[in-house]
Amino acid sequence: MISDALVARLCDRVSAASADTAGTVDVYNGGTLAKVPRSSPRDVADAVEAARQVQRLWAGVAVADRVAIFERFHALLLRHTDELLDILQAETGKSRRDAFLEVSAPLVTVGYYARKAPKLLAPRRREGMVPGLVKTVELRAPKGVVGIITPWNYPFALAFTDLIPALIAGNAVVLKPDTQTALCTLYGVDLLYQAGLPHGLLRVVIGDGPVVGSAIVDTADYIGFTGSTRTGREVAARAGHRLVGCSLELGGKNPLLVLSDASVGKAVAGAVQTCFSNSGQLCMSPERLFVHTAVYDDFTQRFVNEVAKMNLAATFDYSADMGSLTSQRQLETVTRHVEDARAKGATVLTGGKPRPELGPFFYEPTVLTDVTPEMLCYDNETFGPVVAVYRVVDDAEAIERANATSYGLNASVYSKSVPHAEQVAARLKAGTVNINDGHVVGFGSADAPMGGMKDSGVGRRNGIEGLLKYTEAQNVSVQRVPLSTPPRWLPFGWYAKGMQALLRTVRKAGIR
Ligand code: NAD
Repeated sequence: MISDALVARLCDRVSAASADTAGTVDVYNGGTLAKVPRSSPRDVADAVEAARQVQRLWAGVAVADRVAIFERFHALLLRHTDELLDILQAETGKSRRDAFLEVSAPLVTVGYYARKAPKLLAPRRREGMVPGLVKTVELRAPKGVVGIITPWNYPFALAFTDLIPALIAGNAVVLKPDTQTALCTLYGVDLLYQAGLPHGLLRVVIGDGPVVGSAIVDTADYIGFTGSTRTGREVAARAGHRLVGCSLELGGKNPLLVLSDASVGKAVAGAVQTCFSNSGQLCMSPERLFVHTAVYDDFTQRFVNEVAKMNLAATFDYSADMGSLTSQRQLETVTRHVEDARAKGATVLTGGKPRPELGPFFYEPTVLTDVTPEMLCYDNETFGPVVAVYRVVDDAEAIERANATSYGLNASVYSKSVPHAEQVAARLKAGTVNINDGHVVGFGSADAPMGGMKDSGVGRRNGIEGLLKYTEAQNVSVQRVPLSTPPRWLPFGWYAKGMQALLRTVRKAGIR
């Protein structure tokens, strides 16, 4: 389905000097999908250096002209969606529905920053030290070369929601996708160049994380990392050693709360949608459901019925509710977590087994109860279609148990009373809380910052933060009359008294 000519064109975009390649898997059948070039640490260093040259010119381009390229990219993305969905599905095994939602995310990002960036990046007047006598302006300069490292689960959305603001802010980008999902990322990069991005401003390197990813962390001027908490700690330590900034979007063990006054029908529909998006390989997917005892039996029975009816299929149309896991490694983790839970006394209400007749990495959507702390899936991220349902007696218990994790990425709360749900949300330690939805409304609200508390990350994507993190703030202050040093003829004591009088006056006037 993906032509050799297209693969060759996309692979031409990779910065790799040698002929070394890595094979990627056609997830629905386990065969070889493509051979993609492999970069070396030398290639990374060369890519960063070459990108730095182009970035100097790009920083001088007006923000409105930068944005115009992304407007054209937006149009191209809409025109080429189907071809991109085919690649994305082949590389990840996700359903067409999940692939479609993924490709839509960068469209929202472009729309948001196209409107906001010109103002956010413009010089901004700040209060000077003394009103009228000092003029102060805040400037926003690009960091330089931003290194972006992304995982395989939402390879297109995560790369582009981060690199779009990085480029609009005036940076160059060196991007390392996961090898397995390199083609869909390269497809988007190709569209950006078709839209008019200056040659060499965005470079792609491919290879093993500890080798090629580390080389980026060792050379770029800022790192945008998305991946596991374990790797995030290594990236942060390395970036910290160099004193370059980084943002870290990491793992989660997300709770979904069904309060006593929830609409059970809406909670069931929402839980099915969010728990099994991308077969649960979504950092924001809930894996722990805390259900108030008043609605527990009704919710659990209807939830299990709906999950059992889900249509799993390896298909390139919109008929499947859920697709495949992406790799043998994911299949092994999911199987290990479920078997461990079963062996230690958990009850499997539905699912609980692989489905090799559908494809090598398919696994059933699985609902567990009686999950206890000694089980692997209790507080480790499964990152698969496996959820545990817990009965709680009141909001306090739901909140306490929801927060009893080292993670703090996303949470969902279901209630017919929005004020009630909002009160609960404010007590949850999670960077995003979705009310009467699983994850889509939080992620899609691009004006608000989004990211993790606790071990789920540092920094935010989206919103003002998602753009300004790729810039250095510069304070430029002009002294209009001598203030910092007294004239030679004025004794310092008199100067000190004068300054104190001035400070008193501006304080009394409420100006400073
Ligand atoms: P991972 O940490 O193994 O890999 C992520 C990326 O980092 C890959 O490109 C990998 O090659 C690279 N990498 C690996 N070791 C590296 C190193 N030492 N230095 C630099 N780069 C390195 O994660 P994964 O298994 O690919 O992804 C799944 C994880 O990502 C899950 O924990 C999931 O929750 C998390 N995730 C978080 C978000 C979010 O926005 N918070 C989004 C998606 C996925």
